[in-house]
Amino acid sequence: MDSEAFRKHGKEMVDMVADYWDSLRDRQPLPDVKPGFIWDLVPDAPPESPEEWSKILADVEPIVLQNNTNWHHPHFFAYFSTACSYPAIMGDILSGGISSIGFTWKSSPSMTELEMIMTDWLAKSIGLPEHFLNSHPGPGAGIIQSTASDATFVAILSARARAVSSYKENNLIKSPVPQPEDDPVITFGNHDASIVSKLVAYCSDQAHSSVDKGIMLASVKMRKLKSIIGGPHKNYFIETETLESAIREDRARGLIPFIYIATVGTTNTCAVDPVRALGPICKRENIWLHVDAAYAGSFSLCPEYRYLVDGFEFVDSFNFNPHKAMQINFDCSPMWFKDAKEATTYFNVEAEYLRHEYQAVASDYRHLQIALGRRFRSLKIWFVLRALGIEKIQESLRQRVKLAEEFSDLISHDDNFEIIVPTHLGLVCFRYKGDNAINEKLVNTINDDRRIHLVPAKINGVFFLRLAICSTITNSKDIEFAYHVIKDLLPKVL
Ligand SMILES: *Cc1c(COP(=O)(O)O)cnc(C)c1O
Repeated sequence: MDSEAFRKHGKEMVDMVADYWDSLRDRQPLPDVKPGFIWDLVPDAPPESPEEWSKILADVEPIVLQNNTNWHHPHFFAYFSTACSYPAIMGDILSGGISSIGFTWKSSPSMTELEMIMTDWLAKSIGLPEHFLNSHPGPGAGIIQSTASDATFVAILSARARAVSSYKENNLIKSPVPQPEDDPVITFGNHDASIVSKLVAYCSDQAHSSVDKGIMLASVKMRKLKSIIGGPHKNYFIETETLESAIREDRARGLIPFIYIATVGTTNTCAVDPVRALGPICKRENIWLHVDAAYAGSFSLCPEYRYLVDGFEFVDSFNFNPHKAMQINFDCSPMWFKDAKEATTYFNVEAEYLRHEYQAVASDYRHLQIALGRRFRSLKIWFVLRALGIEKIQESLRQRVKLAEEFSDLISHDDNFEIIVPTHLGLVCFRYKGDNAINEKLVNTINDDRRIHLVPAKINGVFFLRLAICSTITNSKDIEFAYHVIKDLLPKVL
């Protein structure tokens, strides 16, 4: 394809995407396919000679669009939202078009610096403390990771290295351990496995599965603290005494508590760990405090939800996903460090071909992530924040909250159902007043029916349904529709 053909077909592709969005209401949230469907539709080997573009394009609707889940369908209420907007799509087109790799400042100066200023824009917009800003003279910094899972893993590895190095310092163990000159086996001092085995990470029993995964991959121990229901949000939270007694017990048996991964906006019920209360304990005990606010973080853009970032002066690292509720499409998961200089030392590997003359003064983002290569993700933040302005994004966040309240009202005025926790930030948790088996049957019947899509959750043996406002085109009529579908299917289940 040459540039002339690209101009033509590129415009057709833009039309195809716009047509897809315009046709969402005529589609259904879930496709009618079974695993393995693709083998009948796509040849089992690539063609030897070039195919006509028109032939390739013609396959998109029957193979791709018809057989995928439509996350932006107005009746898609599952998981949490994934964000999208036309300005964000344009950011991704440009990123793909430029196709440069930004591991060092020198490898991509504008990619690096636009990311620095965009993470500052976001930090200011959601009310993070100043010391997280790249423009602040201190060692704080913001970077865009791919996902919340990546950010949590990076936080665990940074905290692990800090704990290992401080253990060595306190116990006067030389780091790195002196090695005979001719020993070809290297031990990396800050990641010394003999000390890693003593470390224990904490999180709430409501934390996301990505926290389990990060802890597992970091080869450290994990203790899930038991949450209780109550507090200002009448939702699941961790009491300070629960954390304190876990620390006491674990220290008594020779373990080293090294990180607490707090969740602001849990996946089950959008619960909030009390960062202001837990922060001072972490500080006193030398425990790294990471906050995963993947979904809820975006809401702090509205002054009325600033309580979500309360106590963040105690936070060592923080992450949220604008790709969930801020109109910026996947992947976009900014992360902030209180002390990025320190974290950098744990990830730094100096290869000769990566050296450049400005490295002492400019940010080399490769030192704060797992991969070396990185995409130009800041473009979509830049485009969205400018094209929508803070006001339009706030409007869409408030619309989510309002629609969830409408659904919550319908459910709470219906004697068949009960609300599990107060509706929070666009998520309604409810169940039929019956046992788990009936509720399980209800959710399966709803999804098999195909008119709406939602997913369940389970806490302390109680199975319930979650309805999350996901699509930006969902309106009050769609909420009534969802309620009527559920009412309609209920007699089938009973
Ligand atoms: C969605 C979610 C995640 C996982 O997000 P990814 O970016 O897909 O890794 C982690 N934590 C919470 C609280 C979430 O809601």
